[in-house]
Amino acid sequence: MIKVVKFGGSSLADASQFKKVADIVKAEKERKYVVPSAPGKRFKEDTKVTDMLYECYSLASTGKSFDELFTKIRERYQQIIDELSLDVSLDEEFAKIRSAFVSKAGRDYAASRGEYLNGILLAAYLGFPFIDAAEVIFFKNDGSFDSEYTNDVLSKKLKEYEYAVIPGFYGSMPNDTIKTFSRGGSDITGSIVSRAAMADLYENWTDVSGFLMADPRIVDSPMTIDTITYRELRELSYMGAGVLHEDAIFPVRLCGIPINIRNTNDPSARGTFIVAEAPTDRENTHNITGIAGKKGFCIISIEKDMMNQELGFGRRVLKVLEDNGISFEHLPSGIDTMCVVVNQLAIDGLEKKIIDELSRAVAPDKIEITRDVALIAVVGRGMKSRKGTAAKILTAVAESDVNIRMIDQGSSELNVILGIQQEDFEKALNAIYKKFVK
Ligand code: ASP
Repeated sequence: MIKVVKFGGSSLADASQFKKVADIVKAEKERKYVVPSAPGKRFKEDTKVTDMLYECYSLASTGKSFDELFTKIRERYQQIIDELSLDVSLDEEFAKIRSAFVSKAGRDYAASRGEYLNGILLAAYLGFPFIDAAEVIFFKNDGSFDSEYTNDVLSKKLKEYEYAVIPGFYGSMPNDTIKTFSRGGSDITGSIVSRAAMADLYENWTDVSGFLMADPRIVDSPMTIDTITYRELRELSYMGAGVLHEDAIFPVRLCGIPINIRNTNDPSARGTFIVAEAPTDRENTHNITGIAGKKGFCIISIEKDMMNQELGFGRRVLKVLEDNGISFEHLPSGIDTMCVVVNQLAIDGLEKKIIDELSRAVAPDKIEITRDVALIAVVGRGMKSRKGTAAKILTAVAESDVNIRMIDQGSSELNVILGIQQEDFEKALNAIYKKFVK
């Protein structure tokens, strides 16, 4: 049995967090490969080391003095070394990094040092070998991740090590320069390592006890989701439910390795399991998995009699948007009506032009743009097999006296998406949550 364990920045922010991490790793001998982030925030107003590195490099690359900030970064690591009494010196590493900053080694290189140095310290503390991610994680010339080559090299490498620490967030380009994933990318590294190790489980340790059914800033103390499928998670993350990097799902999904989101500060909590398939009947208490939403959309509504008989109508509408560089998010349609939901930022300033072009392209009877729309996605694999979910959602919203502008049910029957006026967002979300979770 092999478990890959990834620890986020707040789990490794200082020496006391390192101790919790070591206790967790050592508690199960199956926890063989450890993927650390860079030290994160120790308290609310604190700065993540990654952000300090970006800032420091931006000073260095514009020829400004960066020593003060560089020393602060050094001190963060030194404090961990001192408090854990580690027999490690990072002097040489920092000398190398300093001259690389001066010779402008790149922003990605700079940011990646956060994980690299933390990996060295964690490896020393755990007594595990250290594998530099630059030697096992690869990007292609166009900057995209080279999944197959990485998997080849990394899986061979891991066979040589029973236990190891592999820093998250970065890898190398064909010309040996360093490249990082996007922010929060250590989650992706953890997933890649899990695939290469053919792990039984990918544990992703963070500072919350799993995914919540709704955003706790909107709904008071929402319940934790016990089990969620990859696809449900994708729906919820698209709507802005954070915790895990979106791209972290793909490598493990390929081979069906479950992800378990756990809390470093509460290791006894079971957390959330993200799996390929999950039974729906276990959670028949509330029938939905989660609710998420986002503000900042626009609905373009088009009406025309006999629209359904007009060949190419939809294509002409979408072509206008495409020509203006606007992608659409949803496309619910009726018999003589069609709605296109787009991101408000994408259409800002172009409204009149779009209306004119659409009028010319399809000669509609009526065309209207509604701004300031929020979308709410109610997601649940249980919807497919149970009647009445949509009715319950709509009733909840109606009872809270909120007007629904758009309804869209994904063809997979995994979600119902509602469009409402932005100012009703919090009210509607709470109403739906309460209707399903008593
Ligand atoms: N340290 C990087 C960041 O802050 C990557 C990560 O933590 O996953 O984005």
